[in-house]
Amino acid sequence: MPTAPQVHSPLDFEEARRIVIQTVRSLRKENRAESVRLDESYGRVLAESALADRDYPTLRRSLRDGFAVKSANVPGALTVRGEVRAGEVEQAPLSDGEALEIMTGAPVPDGADAVVMVEHVLRQDNKVKIDRAAEPGQFINTRGAEAETGAVLIPAGTRLDASHVATLAMTGNVSVPVIRRPSVAILATGDEIVSIDEKPAAHQIRNSNSYMLAALVRSTGGAATILQVARDTRNALQPLLEEGLKHDLLIVTGGVSAGKYDLVKPALRDLGVQFHFERVRVQPGQPTAFGTRDDMPVFGLPGNPGSTLITYQLFARPALELLSGQADPILPLLSARFEAPFRHKLGLTRFLPARLSPDGQHLRHIPWKGSSDVPALAKANVFLVAEHDRETWDTGDSIRVMLKP
Ligand code: AMP
Ligand code: MG
Repeated sequence: MPTAPQVHSPLDFEEARRIVIQTVRSLRKENRAESVRLDESYGRVLAESALADRDYPTLRRSLRDGFAVKSANVPGALTVRGEVRAGEVEQAPLSDGEALEIMTGAPVPDGADAVVMVEHVLRQDNKVKIDRAAEPGQFINTRGAEAETGAVLIPAGTRLDASHVATLAMTGNVSVPVIRRPSVAILATGDEIVSIDEKPAAHQIRNSNSYMLAALVRSTGGAATILQVARDTRNALQPLLEEGLKHDLLIVTGGVSAGKYDLVKPALRDLGVQFHFERVRVQPGQPTAFGTRDDMPVFGLPGNPGSTLITYQLFARPALELLSGQADPILPLLSARFEAPFRHKLGLTRFLPARLSPDGQHLRHIPWKGSSDVPALAKANVFLVAEHDRETWDTGDSIRVMLKP
């Protein structure tokens, strides 16, 4: 069991993220593989490295539409002996004074050592006039230039994107070995929370977190189980937490702040969970708690949906990425320029709803009423990342931006 000391002073989000990543990497976990059809492999994590099944390309291939020539024959006028189309196997070797019309992707005939682009020739009947010199090898991919047989094309532990799906298709993988989805328990807590099919009284709110988290977990490659909402008592919490601790990852929302009925952390401690941090210098999401019991990570995320979303993205996502076998969790941040001046209070790094322009360059802050403001979250397409040590930004100043999950 990792026995990091409890950290009471708030951490920067980068440091908290590092602790999550280090801790989860150190846990003993077995990655069980399963096989899925290629068309269902997108977003899954590859269990075994994918290798080149043959040389790519397997023949010398033309990179342009044009004429296959001997470079020593140009500049000059050549006789066009015929054509080679993609999908055809070439004929007799090229002789001096000859050219073969060739299409992109077609095999370059023996004897030819360059391709001249169709745009750079003058064609007259069966003659072609070429005014400029050709470098030997120009516009030809030699056999194995892209990859040689047996080369690792995609290392195990890669989350498969569309280019990986193309690579797997190219190498003839009808089915793909991927790592099983980790099982993630989601537990919402709070006396005021009712299920989404109930009509809430004025003092109650529907459980949006569990569904949002299930969507986030699914998008991270996990399989979510939504547990029944726990009331704010030790008796109600304990059996549900115990249930949650049977999965590969437990995410609890609500009940982690300093209120009298915030009982999640003491209840988790009673069940043997050790906390690695309990506060992060971010807003929303300051009271985020991360702990482990044996080899099982546990998150206590603050209950307001804005806090839950941001803290999932910053801290729980990398944990789940690692548990799902992904080798390297990354947090992609872009940069954009403010369309209008912006200011915030020093001290906390704030992740605030914002709207990025269609060209991806300009940013507008969306007014929001705090971390319970789900409608503002829904209007955003990104979060701006206002550093804790900078107060003001002018129009045109750039700022980091986190993509919305
Ligand atoms: P807590 O972190 O328990 O102090 O909760 C903070 C606020 O988050 C509460 O006042 C609720 O309004 C809201 N909240 C807590 N849990 C949920 C949930 N499952 N779905 C939507 N909002 C929630
Ligand atoms: Mg609560």
